[in-house]
Amino acid sequence: MDHEHNCWQCGSADAGSLFCRYCNSLQAPIPDYYAFFGLPRTLSVDTDELQNRFYSMSRLLHPDRFTRRSEQERRYSLEASSILNDAYRVLRDPIRRAEYVLKEAGYEIGEQRSKDVPPELLEEVFELNMALDELRMGDDGVLPQLDEMRRRFLEMLAAIDAALETKFQRHDTRPDDGGKAEVLEEIKSALHRRRYIRNLVNEVDRQLSSRNA
Ligand SMILES: [Zn+2]
Repeated sequence: MDHEHNCWQCGSADAGSLFCRYCNSLQAPIPDYYAFFGLPRTLSVDTDELQNRFYSMSRLLHPDRFTRRSEQERRYSLEASSILNDAYRVLRDPIRRAEYVLKEAGYEIGEQRSKDVPPELLEEVFELNMALDELRMGDDGVLPQLDEMRRRFLEMLAAIDAALETKFQRHDTRPDDGGKAEVLEEIKSALHRRRYIRNLVNEVDRQLSSRNA
């Protein structure tokens, strides 16, 4: 991604992304998380490398370094610190990272979609709702069944995570105009299924704990 711009202070072209390479003044921060960190737009990220960049950029952007700088730079340093923290929180987490890439690529991944039951889970969800109904009516006999279902959901989550890792690599090795979109579609539906199953586990936990309360 190209972020060449003229320095707001000295006017030099090709100023560099964080500090101007000629006059060293802090530049307007780039809101894109990958570009901000100077990382390629890949779904697999070396999180050690990301952490190193985070720490060194935190030091460079520390407010103490800007107390004697211009007001413009003090404002940029606050903006940049806030982007830095958001970007780090999102990019170090594979799920949030994938959601970010999807969103920036124009995919709708709204919360309300998690209400639609993925078709392959219809039976599971039906069974779960029956068991939870019985539990609410005081039938403790369904507890082993609920435990078993919870275990199966966690296994599904682990399987989705493993599949996502493979899809990330597939996405990253394809050329921009050569089928990335197709992989992003797959990732989007995997994330949808993942969120749905995560909610089922939460629901089981909630019902079990309210019963114990
Ligand atoms: Zn400059």
